Amino acid sequence: MTMTDLQPIVFEGVDANAPMVIAGPCSAETREQVLDTARQLAANGIKIFRAGIWKPRTKPGGFEGVGAEGLEWLKEVKAETGMYTSTEVATRQHVEAALAAGVDLLWIGARTSANPFAMQEIADALADAGADVPVLVKNPVNPDLELWIGAMERLYNAGIRRIGAIHRGFSAYGKHLYRNLPQWHIPIELRRRLPNIPIVCDPSHIGGKRELVAPLSQQALDMGFDGLIVESHCEPDCAWSDKAQQVSPDVLNFILNTLVIRDAKTSTESLTLLRQQIDQIDNEILESLNKRMRVSREIGQYKKEHRIPVLQAGRYDSIMKSRVKLAVEMGMSAEFMTSVLSAIHEESVRQQIDIFNRR
Ligand code: PEP
Ligand code: MN
Repeated sequence: MTMTDLQPIVFEGVDANAPMVIAGPCSAETREQVLDTARQLAANGIKIFRAGIWKPRTKPGGFEGVGAEGLEWLKEVKAETGMYTSTEVATRQHVEAALAAGVDLLWIGARTSANPFAMQEIADALADAGADVPVLVKNPVNPDLELWIGAMERLYNAGIRRIGAIHRGFSAYGKHLYRNLPQWHIPIELRRRLPNIPIVCDPSHIGGKRELVAPLSQQALDMGFDGLIVESHCEPDCAWSDKAQQVSPDVLNFILNTLVIRDAKTSTESLTLLRQQIDQIDNEILESLNKRMRVSREIGQYKKEHRIPVLQAGRYDSIMKSRVKLAVEMGMSAEFMTSVLSAIHEESVRQQIDIFNRR
């Protein structure tokens, strides 16, 4: 399906040629915290305010958001500062309450965009309300581009024409530098597939740490993203949710002022996007190879301790056969896969012999 008559997401009084910046706390906590944060952000020139009113939590018992009461605070933010307001919706009730409160922009969270039933419920609620509100869809928690696009298509079918995407990274098991792996090639592929969908980066949820907000924001702008959604709290260390990744309005201002904004047009060309994907995929291949060599060295250590020789023909043979078969099924030539595997095997053996020779 092609979403043919999408409309740009522009707000009166917000420079449509500059990256769109949405900022505000992870969660609305108290009226004072919301207004204090909003006033500081507005004073620094932020035009679109975010605050989570309903918070999806991994486990029960966490702070689940203040609920509808917080919508009143968003109304105050709008009335007092003139900022546009935005919040996350995950159910029909959320949609109805947010629309009734005049929230200017809605976003769909990563757990919700991963769930087609929830997405359809939201789309139906928007259609029933005849809503014409812009909606940003976060990538699903799992790296599934089709699911992400499908969520946007449901909104389109419900009559929403101002649709954007938020790249917030993808969850992964275990410890990583990032809270959610960026896997940049996925939003880049989204851009290639749907060039009319603006993509906003969420460096806060990708990085999970304050110090990663600036570099991730720069990286996103360098890749031609259309904007940023950043968590900012008047007292980050006291935040009720996501405190490690929130920055104060002044720190945010500093970060935004140091970002280099390049000409977006040059990076929207398909060739550039495809090359960026290649760069990213090559990095992943290198990381995988490195992981493989590490395991290989551990095997080397084990063989040494148990006096097992490095080379075992049977094992090598079965690796070759199974991988080559898979590669052929994927459309690569057997010769190509054979030479890749023998090069990898050669390096593994070299690394194991290195272990054997160590005293
Ligand atoms: C959020 O934006 O506060 C949020 C809950 O994000 P995500 O859906 O990306 O986890
Ligand atoms: Mn958050």
